[in-house]
Amino acid sequence: MYRSHTCGELRESHINNTVTLSGWVQKSRDKGFMIWIDLRDRYGITQLIFDEERTASDLMEKAKMLGREFVIQVTGTVIERTSKNPKISTGNIEILVSDLEILNESLTPPFTIEDETDGGDDIRMKYRYLDIRRNPVRENLIFRHKVTMAVRNYLSEKEFVEVETPYLIKSTPEGARDFVVPSRMNEGQFYALPQSPQTFKQLLMVGGMDKYFQIVKCFRDEDLRADRQPEFTQIDCEMAFVEQEDILNTFEGLTRHIIKEIKGVEIGEFPRMTYDEAMQRYGNDKPDIRFGMEFGELNEVAKHKEFGVFNNAELVVGIAVPGGNSYSRKEIDKLIDWIKRPQVGALGMVYVRCNEDGSYKSSVDKFYDQDDLAKWAEVTGAKAGDLICVLSGDTLKVRTQLSALRMELAERLGLRKTDEFAPLWVVDFPLLEWDEDTERYHAMHHPFTSPKPEQIELLKTKPGEVKANAYDIVLNGNEIGGGSIRIHDKETQAMMFDYLGFTPEEAKAQFGFLMDAFQYGAPPHGGIAFGLDRLVSILGGQETIRDFIAFPKNNSGRDVMIDAPAPIDDTQLKELCLKLDLKA
Ligand code: ASP
Repeated sequence: MYRSHTCGELRESHINNTVTLSGWVQKSRDKGFMIWIDLRDRYGITQLIFDEERTASDLMEKAKMLGREFVIQVTGTVIERTSKNPKISTGNIEILVSDLEILNESLTPPFTIEDETDGGDDIRMKYRYLDIRRNPVRENLIFRHKVTMAVRNYLSEKEFVEVETPYLIKSTPEGARDFVVPSRMNEGQFYALPQSPQTFKQLLMVGGMDKYFQIVKCFRDEDLRADRQPEFTQIDCEMAFVEQEDILNTFEGLTRHIIKEIKGVEIGEFPRMTYDEAMQRYGNDKPDIRFGMEFGELNEVAKHKEFGVFNNAELVVGIAVPGGNSYSRKEIDKLIDWIKRPQVGALGMVYVRCNEDGSYKSSVDKFYDQDDLAKWAEVTGAKAGDLICVLSGDTLKVRTQLSALRMELAERLGLRKTDEFAPLWVVDFPLLEWDEDTERYHAMHHPFTSPKPEQIELLKTKPGEVKANAYDIVLNGNEIGGGSIRIHDKETQAMMFDYLGFTPEEAKAQFGFLMDAFQYGAPPHGGIAFGLDRLVSILGGQETIRDFIAFPKNNSGRDVMIDAPAPIDDTQLKELCLKLDLKA
């Protein structure tokens, strides 16, 4: 028996008991005549004591040899501690050791295994197994486990069945590139790793499973943006015989349950906003509604004066920054520099100071009088003491820029509180999205999404205006999930593929199995998938999803611990009938 108790378990009530503990040496203090060791395992830390008077001399010698992270087993008596440590749960006791076994030695770890470590990101990634010994990382993994358990319990209770779908499949498009796996037994042929189990969950509905979920890995070969992982986890769900309303209610229930279980916070009904409204009010399809600073469109009150910049713009739009009139000229200049950075890309910014005495002072006083500026204040909801920031230009671009400014300022003003949860549904997404590069429409969600039935006709004349039965669930400015009602008949699906530029042959080759299935009594169905990594990191109040993944990849998609990806040897290449010609 390696242990009778864990290192987080012993209390004063155990005094005089003989116990056996196993764990890692966190640190050792050697006073010569007395040695204290902090013994650590997943559950906590227990202090061990060896002293000249009570400990045999050979045991004393052995204890002196212990280095950091040695794995040891000790047996001893629980005694009351003379100087108690109220910071840890075992702080009232210590173990007077009578027997010590070194189970394994350790090299000195490359960074300290403490809450505040001296190790930088890179080194901790390389030795992730040591990082996992640290409380913050371990706690994050346990936190993630709690979230997934809450999900599994809730959905299972509601008669959802968790079904595994295959990883070696044919492409399921979700807008990224596929990772492919060469097939040794089928020369020149490849599997694709799923970008999502989309087609399979739809086939499960055809199979009559009715309510499906799966906590599942998805793989997307995207150019890595900050805080994206090439493999990530979804809570993937699908239901048959449902309308959009049923899905929204079911998964609002799930989200509410998770937030209650994990954070103890009760959330009322989630607000709903159309995509168009979200874009207009927040410049963003995943608005953070924990704070105001809503957009005020100023075309009517700011155009048709002498100011050419505004007159030539498609959209003039502003936000009121609470208390922003206190910014110095220099600070405002810095803000303008910030918004002109290539990442944001605005050409400039007009601003209006709302003075405490009710007057205004703007950067465009030459063109606008106090009455004009009062109207701007009214539209943006600015009060005395605020600063109005105004951008102008092409609608989509200018909204994106102002949204970036809104988020940045809210961050600086401390309005993005991590202990506040403001979920909402964004509904009625456009079905299609124009792609400048390929000069054609792409499915905004994926090609299986159903257009609003009453708008199908519009596909012929104004495809860009057609809305879909598609929805996103947004939490604190992050899209945590998205889904849609699906097309469930062959004709509509074929028509959709056609709009998306697939020839009938291509559609058949890639998705023939789905269209075949639709001919055998496919029920109306729809679903949603949540990004588990992101959800967990928001609930955990932390920024990066990496902190909640046991073995994450770095920003260039590498696993620096196992050193992957890596070349494969010639024999393997030959077996797979792959030739690498790097010069070509
Ligand atoms: N398959 C979709 C995705 O991964 C989710 C869904 O439509 O259910 O985003």
